[in-house]
Amino acid sequence: MALNDGVGDEIGDANGFDVVVVGAGAAGMMAAAVAGQRGRRVVLIDHAEKLAEKIRISGGGRCNFTNLQTGPANFLSENPHFCRSALSRYTPQDFLKLVEKHGIAWHEKHKGQLFCDDSAQRIIDMLVAECDTGGVSWRQPCKVSDLRRDGARWQLKTTAGTLQAESVVIATGGLSIPKIGASDFGHRIARQFDIPVVTPRPALVPLTFDATAWAPFAELAGASLEVEVSCADGHFREDLLFTHRGLSGPAILQISSFWQPGETLSINLVPDQRLDEVLIAAKHGNRQHVATMLSQWLPRRLAEAWAERHGLSGKPLADCADKALRELARATHSWQLKPAGSEGYRKAEVTRGGVGTRALDQKTMMAKNQSGLYFIGEAMDVTGWLGGYNFQWAWASGYAAGMAV
Ligand SMILES: Cc1cc2nc3c(=O)[nH]c(=O)nc-3n(C[C@H](O)[C@H](O)[C@H](O)COP(=O)(O)OP(=O)(O)OC[C@H]3O[C@@H](n4cnc5c(N)ncnc54)[C@H](O)[C@@H]3O)c2cc1C
Repeated sequence: MALNDGVGDEIGDANGFDVVVVGAGAAGMMAAAVAGQRGRRVVLIDHAEKLAEKIRISGGGRCNFTNLQTGPANFLSENPHFCRSALSRYTPQDFLKLVEKHGIAWHEKHKGQLFCDDSAQRIIDMLVAECDTGGVSWRQPCKVSDLRRDGARWQLKTTAGTLQAESVVIATGGLSIPKIGASDFGHRIARQFDIPVVTPRPALVPLTFDATAWAPFAELAGASLEVEVSCADGHFREDLLFTHRGLSGPAILQISSFWQPGETLSINLVPDQRLDEVLIAAKHGNRQHVATMLSQWLPRRLAEAWAERHGLSGKPLADCADKALRELARATHSWQLKPAGSEGYRKAEVTRGGVGTRALDQKTMMAKNQSGLYFIGEAMDVTGWLGGYNFQWAWASGYAAGMAV
């Protein structure tokens, strides 16, 4: 990989390409490698100092690079069938073959989630090697100040000179984690060319609560348990984590993508029991405190806070009225919570919304109204669940564009 090779202001051979890919993240590197290996002259540009930081920090540093169970149902979009075609033409098995070709050891964690044994850097190195095989040129760090059509070609004014190409692929990702280079470039380019943008918002993000309402739970920070959570069309059974400001953990990250401000979450804290039946059946002569009973299923600190919240703190089970136990069970199986907000793009793993897919061709990712302009990856209105789906979308949409440009 040679950085900023062929820099110059003249649009000579060095700056004339078949394809410019803007954004050298997951989708951009995949598209560039595929197009380059088809014999296209490709240049890949990125404004960040460091390459593919999001891949590097993904999956806790081990990159959950795909999910074996990937299907259209694992994605949120205003146009839910759009992703079907690209996902079927580049599958998790296709990416796994690439990973194995590069000798990268991997393991399945749970629910089809595949991670590197070693580090996410292996995936970055693999994508760079694939770009090198395709003879891809690089400009990094490099900023684009202007993109316009020049007859049949596209012209990009950049800090590395003016580039020209037949096709431009926008792969600049979503808005989450601005401090490592996220920008709204893709959305701005879409608007410039009259392509609608579905209002973006943070997703796969911890949820926060009003400080006063959350005060009784703030001291539970660090406690976690498996729950069932639902909101709107979303329903997940995963771990939940209490934080100082609210809730996190996979269950909450998943449901946050479905949640809209003002909506209520419903959480079943003890999904494997019928608590009313269990508590009433165990009641006779039972001097154990309610909190002790609850701590069979809830972390001790939560069991105590929960008993107190329902006026049963320090009470032996035998002394509780059936009605009070039924009420406790109902609240435990269906805790209703209205988040005040989320931790925002600073903590969100992805962005929901983005470039509207009705304006794009589902086979190629090209804008229907702008020949030669493509959008791929997280910049688009296709948002995966937690668990490797977002990378699979980056690979699949990158492959689709890479084959078409
Ligand atoms: C902490 C964290 C952990 C994650 N873990 C996982 C995981 O394990 N599995 C999973 O499937 N998903 C995970 N994700 C989501 C996943 O990283 C993204 O969905 C995926 O990287 C999107 O790929 P992309 O190529 O569209 O965008 P990105 O990978 O974000 O790449 C976009 C690139 O464009 C560049 N860029 C942005 N603006 C400009 C501009 N104006 N000019 C030039 N270049 C620009 C950026 O510098 C970046 O290199 C995680 C996300 C985060 C934040």
